[in-house]
Amino acid sequence: MHILIVEDESKIARFVSLELKHEGYDTTCIADGREALDAALNNDYDLIILDVMLPGINGIEILRRLRQVKDTPVIILTARDAVVDKVSGLDHGADDYMTKPFAIEELLARIRVALKKRSAAKKERYVRGKLTVDLGSVTATYDGHKIDLTKREFDLLVYLLDNMNVVVTREQVLDAVWGYDFYGNTNVVDVYIRYLRAKIDDEYHVQLIETVRGSGYVIRS
Ligand code: CA
Repeated sequence: MHILIVEDESKIARFVSLELKHEGYDTTCIADGREALDAALNNDYDLIILDVMLPGINGIEILRRLRQVKDTPVIILTARDAVVDKVSGLDHGADDYMTKPFAIEELLARIRVALKKRSAAKKERYVRGKLTVDLGSVTATYDGHKIDLTKREFDLLVYLLDNMNVVVTREQVLDAVWGYDFYGNTNVVDVYIRYLRAKIDDEYHVQLIETVRGSGYVIRS
């Protein structure tokens, strides 16, 4: 388990890092907002502890940009009485928040909860409106009618549902559904999106899969 600690107060960062290491986590500490955003986007941390007031880019903005592409669990650190930070952090997809100063035991407990929640979120079944996708029986239905999908189409649909409300890029889809060893053009993603749309959107007159120009695709709840 690798945890990124984004905090410009070096005393706090050092202390939290030491305690986390003691608990068996690997840690990386970053004090600058811009650097932190880069690191968060380019690495797969298991969790991020994110201070709000940072040099460069603030924590809320980091969270907002991160959530456009990733759902890494995030616990934000806010100053006492900064209710606005707390609310906008949760609005932007933070899993939890801590108000400074905090007891390290409480932070550790919240980290455990956030990590557990995330692993439990690996679902067996997705329901979105009249669409139901069951991973156990590998079937998809719309309003009770079975949708005939190939394995690849099914995996693609599950990936989009797993990232509900998060815009995924063609590269991310390719990595997740086709695998890292797939050498090919990302156009294949567009082709399969068209297949899915023909079988679901067109067939049932719904707008399930949304194209976000210049970014990728999303299914919204
Ligand atoms: Ca700070």
